[in-house]
Order: sequence, then structure tokens, then C-alpha cells
Amino acid sequence: MSQIHLLSPRLANQIAAGEVVERPASVVKELLENSLDAGATRLEVDIEQAGIKLIRIRDDGDGIEKDDLPLALSRHATSKIYALEDLEAVASLGFRGEALASISSVSRLTLTSRRIASEHAWQVQTEGRDMEAALSPAAHPQGTTVEMRDLFFNTPARRKFLKTENTEFKHLDEVVKRLALSRFDVAFQLKHNSRIIHQLKPAMLQADQERRVAAVCGPAFVEQSLRVDMNAEASGLTLKGWIGLPTFSRSQADLQYFFVNGRMIRDKLVTHAVRQAYADVLFHGRHPAYVLYLELDPALVDVNVHPTKHEVRFREGRLVHDFIFRSIHRVIGDVRPDASSVPAL
Ligand code: ADP
Ligand code: MG
Repeated sequence: MSQIHLLSPRLANQIAAGEVVERPASVVKELLENSLDAGATRLEVDIEQAGIKLIRIRDDGDGIEKDDLPLALSRHATSKIYALEDLEAVASLGFRGEALASISSVSRLTLTSRRIASEHAWQVQTEGRDMEAALSPAAHPQGTTVEMRDLFFNTPARRKFLKTENTEFKHLDEVVKRLALSRFDVAFQLKHNSRIIHQLKPAMLQADQERRVAAVCGPAFVEQSLRVDMNAEASGLTLKGWIGLPTFSRSQADLQYFFVNGRMIRDKLVTHAVRQAYADVLFHGRHPAYVLYLELDPALVDVNVHPTKHEVRFREGRLVHDFIFRSIHRVIGDVRPDASSVPAL
């Protein structure tokens, strides 16, 4: 008797969801990235019970065509790439076409959207998802609202792995903070159990940006930090942002944000370069605080290593490492007691 059979699409999606949807924070990350990819300028995030009960994200982006709504929920369905070559230059945050399919397979999902040219909005609703998502007309301004309820309601084993509401909310808040630091031009609002946690206006002027960094990282960080604004003309690398004074060091590496061409990353090479620059001014076991933005030719960095991990691959690792090290070392040099040891940039 034959023993091999194809998994049902629903089960296949639920298994795949394990990769993308680990916890409420991962849902928020995927949904906010979709909104940003759609050109949103205003993002509203409503959360109940740390996102386990409800995650509602409303944007003012381009919206989704009526006929595309059910497709948006299908696996491997995306509007962002067409061919393998597109991956070389992918500018969007997503492109795998897996997030909505995964999320909808482990929650109750309502997707409401309106394109600017449409007379009204359309809505699809799914519950743990089987493909017959029903379309109905709806009222909604231009943009998209995704409402996710009851995460993991149909996968109790996974639900058991969720931590306390407090912990889950911290992860979720961290996702919002990272994105808020990566897009000063976008307004963010985060509400948890009807309480406003973040209310961030677009911040294009430097003073406004500093205010946003203070709102996200705490005013003490901005007050006790140095501005970085460096560029290496030969290689076209630039590094901007804020680095904490040595006296503002932390017992944990919990205030470290590093963006490469606008994307938050975590990378050994970067961490090492920053550490080294601080080596002679920080006590053992202390960690520097920083919010830094590295810009470089996109051809010199591969950001598509893994969808959920924040890894990148630099083509010229040594060059990037040295640039980061020297830039920070020099800025710290201005306050270092023995300034004569600063290497030339
Ligand atoms: P990906 O982002 O990798 O394309 P997703 O499953 O996250 O895959 O989304 C599928 C598709 O649904 C996207 O390619 C996009 O066309 C559409 N979409 C999802 N969210 C939004 C949104 N907030 N606004 C406009 N379109 C969206
Ligand atoms: Mg996506």
C-alpha cells in the first residue's frame, strides 16, 4: 500500500508558518514591512494582549486590487519580484510571498484594502485558512488594514511556546522601534490595550529626528551621545547616527541599532568593529549604545541571506569593518583623554 501522500495546502502552510511566524512580534514585523513596501506614510498598530488576541495594522499605502486579495493570502504569491534576476536588486523588504499565507494559516485574518482608483474597498476573511476566502465590499480609505486575531488558535502546540504577555510585548515593541528608527519619514503609532505607547510624527529635520531617537531610545541616550557623520570618499561609504558616550555604557547589549541601507541588521563584523573602537574606553563586560546608519553601494552587500534573521553579507568586509572602526574611533577620540592615539581616517 502506498504510504506517501501530499500534505494538504493548509497543513503545508501551517508547517511553513513555523519559519515565519514565531510570535506576535514576527507578525507585526511582516505586516509593517508590507505596509512600508506599499509606500505607506502613516502606520497605526493596535495590539491587544501583546498581540496574541489582536494585531491590527492600518496603512495609507497603495492598497490591493480586489482580484489580488485572495492571491495575497496564497503561498509564493508576490507583487514584488518576477524573475530570479530581480533578487539581485530587490529594494522591497519582502519578496518571498509567504508572510500573509503563513499568518493566515495560524490565525483569524481579515484583509481590507482599497486602491486609490477603486470606488470602495474590498475585504477577505479567513479562519485558519482554507483557500475559499470570501470577498465582500467594505468601507475603508485608500490603503490597507490587516486584522489578525487569535494567533495560534488552531496550533495549540505552538501557542504553548509563547512567553508571558510582558515578554511578548517587549519583542513586539522592539520591532516597532527598529522600523521607526529606520524610517524617519513615516509616522508611527502603537497602541497596546487602548493605551498609546508610541506616537511618532514624521521627522525630516535633524532636530525632529533627534526627538524621535529620544522617544524610542530614551532621552538620556541622546543627551549622552555623540553625533557621527563620516564618509569615505574613495569607497562611497557613509556612516551617520549617534553613539553613546563611554560613560553611557550598558550592562547589556540592548541599545544597539545598526542599519545598512535602511535595513536593521545584526552582523558579527559590525559588532566587532564597534566593539574595537570602544575597546580602550569601556570597562570589561560593558556594552556601547548606538544608533548607526551605514550607506553603501547596494552591489557591495547582500541582504537576502535569511528572511527573518538580520544577517547581511558584505562583499568588502575588511573595508567596511575598517571604515566603521575608524569612524567611531575618531568620534570617540574627540572626548578621549589621550586624543593623540586617533588613527587617520
Ligand atoms: P511579500 O511581501 O513577500 O510579497 P506577503 O505574503 O507579505 O509577501 O504579501 C503578499 C502580497 O500582498 C504582497 O506582494 C503585496 O502585493 C500584497 N500586500 C500585502 N500587504 C500589503 C499592504 N499592506 N499594502 C499593499 N499590498 C500588500
Ligand atoms: Mg511581506
